[in-house]
Amino acid sequence: MADDGSRKRQRLETGAATDASLEIQRDEEFWFRDGSIVLIARNIAFRVYQGLIAEQSDIFRDLFAVPQPMNPDMMDDCPAVHLSDSPEDLRHLLRVLLPSQNRYFLKPLKGESIDFAEVSAIIRLAHKYGIQDVQDQALSYLKISFTDKFSDHIDDHHEGPVAFELNDVRAIAVVNLARLVGADSMLPVALYRCSQLGSEIIHGFSREDGTREQLTADDLGRCINGKMALVRASVMAAFRILLAPLSAEACMDGHCGRKDLAHVLDDLAQDDDLITYRVLTPWLPECDMFCKNCHDTLLSRDLKERRNIWLQLPSFMGVAVEGWGGAGRAN
Ligand SMILES: [Zn+2]
Repeated sequence: MADDGSRKRQRLETGAATDASLEIQRDEEFWFRDGSIVLIARNIAFRVYQGLIAEQSDIFRDLFAVPQPMNPDMMDDCPAVHLSDSPEDLRHLLRVLLPSQNRYFLKPLKGESIDFAEVSAIIRLAHKYGIQDVQDQALSYLKISFTDKFSDHIDDHHEGPVAFELNDVRAIAVVNLARLVGADSMLPVALYRCSQLGSEIIHGFSREDGTREQLTADDLGRCINGKMALVRASVMAAFRILLAPLSAEACMDGHCGRKDLAHVLDDLAQDDDLITYRVLTPWLPECDMFCKNCHDTLLSRDLKERRNIWLQLPSFMGVAVEGWGGAGRAN
């Protein structure tokens, strides 16, 4: 059939907007010659297997079952269904539902990274199309970095399968994904990471399909309030760590406890991590002003303070998380 290009098509889904002025192109990756249905996302057509897709998603099954209008949309003798998703997102989902490569029996080996855009698209579309097990798998990768378990080095959790750097603007997308699927346990760390951002917290970033990822006004407000709460907590923690007396007997130098606090703070302030909103990052390990024993004492105070801040993190970030800091979570 030669009607694959120029026909103007109306979208099946409410609110969808095909640019009818563009020709519909066959997707290079998902165009099976014996496919039985054509999914059209924007101006890209995917010819796939109706039964295989419907079997994995009740939403798709219902969508395919919608009675076609008098002149059903056809493409290459297959019924064509218009979706409101971007072709980039749909391609990521189809790679999971109809894998022709990268088939996983076991999850990726340690050290193997997964593209965030892929994880994000799969969570959003698996949620939309009711493919719970796929959604859970994709979320589990994010939960390694956006944990609800206290770690001595919470900010080092960017070595998970989805790489996140500190000040990574994609934390905005993680907040939105957690909101979308109700993964509340990810919100405290995701909002905490957003609160570390500069002005990009307002503008967000562009997804690979060109759409903009931004925080809602409410979550933006939570990050602004959270940042102030974090700075306050950080200052209080630093004073509690440094002001409590050090044991003169344990001190190897004999004068750690007599150091001038203003001088100590001034020296530590050279380190960006001291008394900032990045309060979960340990800063004392870099400090070399104290003897080994006194330094160890300060480190244990620092750990205690950060653990305490961790317990309050949901409250600082303006969210409620059931069971936060409960058994198995505070350590
Ligand atoms: Zn000492």
